[in-house]
Amino acid sequence: MSKFLSYKLKTLEPYTPGEQPKDFKYIKLNTNESPFKPSKKAIKMALKELDTLNLYPDPTSFSLHQQLALVLGVDKENVLATNGSDEILNFAFMAFCDDQTEAVFPDITYGFYEVFAKLYNIKYTKIPLNDDFTINVDDYIGINKTIFIANPNAPTGIALALSDIEKIVSSNPNNVVIIDEAYIDFGNESAIKLTKKYDNLLVTGTFSKSRSMAGARLGFGVGNKDLINDLNTIKYSTNPYNINKVTMAMGAGVLKDNKYTLKNCKKIIKNREYLIKGLKKAGFILTDSTANFVFCKHPLFSGEQIYTKLRENGILVRHFDKDKIKDYNRITIGSKKQMTKLLKAINNIVRNGEKQWEVLR
Ligand code: PMP
Repeated sequence: MSKFLSYKLKTLEPYTPGEQPKDFKYIKLNTNESPFKPSKKAIKMALKELDTLNLYPDPTSFSLHQQLALVLGVDKENVLATNGSDEILNFAFMAFCDDQTEAVFPDITYGFYEVFAKLYNIKYTKIPLNDDFTINVDDYIGINKTIFIANPNAPTGIALALSDIEKIVSSNPNNVVIIDEAYIDFGNESAIKLTKKYDNLLVTGTFSKSRSMAGARLGFGVGNKDLINDLNTIKYSTNPYNINKVTMAMGAGVLKDNKYTLKNCKKIIKNREYLIKGLKKAGFILTDSTANFVFCKHPLFSGEQIYTKLRENGILVRHFDKDKIKDYNRITIGSKKQMTKLLKAINNIVRNGEKQWEVLR
């Protein structure tokens, strides 16, 4: 830390992203990326942009917004594309929280919410999940705070029903409720249609998971026109050219090739079922995840032991060394081949571990 850093930031602990190893020797199941390549049609559209990179991108993201609105079933003024969904979440913290409006989110959820709250010196409350990691909806009824909920939640993968989201949104008419739908496409219904009924609902989404574009950085928000205008005020006060030309064209291309996205989501759901079955057979206990990852623990091994052993076997998963969830690992759903290799490694780890237990006994 330099002596020049603002006193406001001296204790800030930044978000720690999952590891991105420099070599490709690992089976990467640690950051919930898609195992499938980006749409070929989208790549073709993106490549065309290379020749005009001497020019700034369109700050209004006109074509991308048009395509996004079409696919999501809303109007163009109801969407805002951003540099990953982290950026729209960042904008939401800046726009809808302050010294009078506190933020609130579950105690176990996407780690970035707390970082944003600290970054902007916003008071916040972390509401404990139930013991089974579900959200207690009643905790969020009429609380007069800006609410952030990931649905499905991360890293548990557990989803709230749309009716529960509606209860939360309708009972907090004077506050914005942000529903982070980074993982919505793997078996849940989006809350986007509720944005037509409620002016205090902002739904955020990403191209990083179901749309195979994590490396290009593209996210979006959907909400009432006035909410989107507020978020645009932040965008034009920080980074008007927030999306580069290549990403913008590629995003529009992915939306045009929506069939490919839907096909890949179906594959992920199938591979999730396959993995869950295998993990249960190996003795694991899992949450009821409907995301592109599972969250699991084994009664005989610590979360760290499983993480380390898998790593030694060339497989990266995500372990959070945090209270309440240290026994668990979050494992991204990959291709069928990757899942088969993972299960093979896990079965070996469990078998060898059990033998060692026998010796110790
Ligand atoms: N929300 C949740 C719940 C996430 O887990 C993530 C990242 N993995 C994001 C938002 C941000 O994703 P991105 O910035 O890649 O769109």
